[in-house]
Amino acid sequence: MSEDRRKILLIYTGGTIGMAVDPFTNSLRPFDFHHLKEQIPELDQFNLAIKVISFKDPIDSSNMNPDHWKNIAKLIEMNYHLFDGFVILHGSDTMAYTASALSFMLKGLNKPVVLTGSQLPMGQLRTDGRENLITAIEIASATNNGKPRVPEVTILFEDELYRGNRTHKYNTEYFEAFDSPNYNILAKVGVNIKYFDNYILPYKEDTLNVNYDMDCNIQVLFLYPGISKASVNAILNTPNVKGIILKTFGSGNAPTDEWFIDVLDEAIKKEKIIYNVTQCETGSVKPGMYETSKKLELIGVVNGADILIEAAITKLMHLLGQQYNHDKIIKALSESIKGEMTTYHG
Ligand code: ASP
Repeated sequence: MSEDRRKILLIYTGGTIGMAVDPFTNSLRPFDFHHLKEQIPELDQFNLAIKVISFKDPIDSSNMNPDHWKNIAKLIEMNYHLFDGFVILHGSDTMAYTASALSFMLKGLNKPVVLTGSQLPMGQLRTDGRENLITAIEIASATNNGKPRVPEVTILFEDELYRGNRTHKYNTEYFEAFDSPNYNILAKVGVNIKYFDNYILPYKEDTLNVNYDMDCNIQVLFLYPGISKASVNAILNTPNVKGIILKTFGSGNAPTDEWFIDVLDEAIKKEKIIYNVTQCETGSVKPGMYETSKKLELIGVVNGADILIEAAITKLMHLLGQQYNHDKIIKALSESIKGEMTTYHG
């Protein structure tokens, strides 16, 4: 690789983007990313050195798990000093989880890590994969005064760049598959790429320090009218569970029935963490705004503010994995650690 060209590492994990139509058989087969420049000659216009690493067995992202996140983080760590930016090709289904997990695992990150994928396979007519890949590479290599333009974990899909841990897949049909309902987009892709610098994490001199440990002993309790005590108990008493995300109504509200508050209170007294995350697509938990959230606040349910479920799950796994003490985990859950939530004061 020539020294003066910016260097991008492309990590292919699988997903729809990796499929191409075989011109002879007309069926879908894995796209050979190792011959990327031959298949997408326009990439030469960037004057970049692009290296491709592929998962040995590319996967549909529904099969992603924390071991795969660790593999991706390891590849980034091992190659960190050799490359200026990283592009991860990933199925769209769980991309928001992987992006969120990486944002917490990659402590001290100050280079771009851009995840992208597509709704249509690479070789298919009208594919969105080609544009997404080219734009992700452009963003991963972009600089501002010699520093990386977007030094954080992001998702590029269709014509928008999102903070990874603010992102949610909301559409199975259209090319615009992702949304960042509670945080401004980081860039808009048109004739030019317009960056919204005020929303991008600022570049900091730092050293990458990967926190690999994730603890999966968590649960999600999704409330619905009529939920039974047996269902609530089953979730709260899952063997080994240490943290439960309570998917509440509206601005963080839940039934005020005595039995319900009592079982939550009992779990909290046993040092289980309960994290209040709203079922609403947009907006924030506001403890105490209604009587139906006041009780949760009083027994010690932690306020998740406007965090999305993908970020909440991976943040909880990450914090439990660090073996911090109980109070430190609760404090970190109610604060933004990687821009994943808005914390309101007053
Ligand atoms: N099921 C696929 C995946 O997530 C869908 C996609 O790639 O968009 O791997």
